[in-house]
Amino acid sequence: MIQITKACPHCGSIDLVSNGHNKKNGKQKYYCNGCDRYGTLDAAPRYSEERKEDSESLF
Ligand SMILES: [Zn+2]
Repeated sequence: MIQITKACPHCGSIDLVSNGHNKKNGKQKYYCNGCDRYGTLDAAPRYSEERKEDSESLF
């Protein structure tokens, strides 16, 4: 499973797990370990668009 870096809109927990995507609107689906709910986020996390050069320059 993939960890999501966004906070749960219900309880504010960041302990979310990816649960696929909604086929109708493409929204990221998640399961929240904090409040034990399933829900959707407005946008999918963009892991692939992060640039290596940017993160390396910070350190
Ligand atoms: Zn929650």
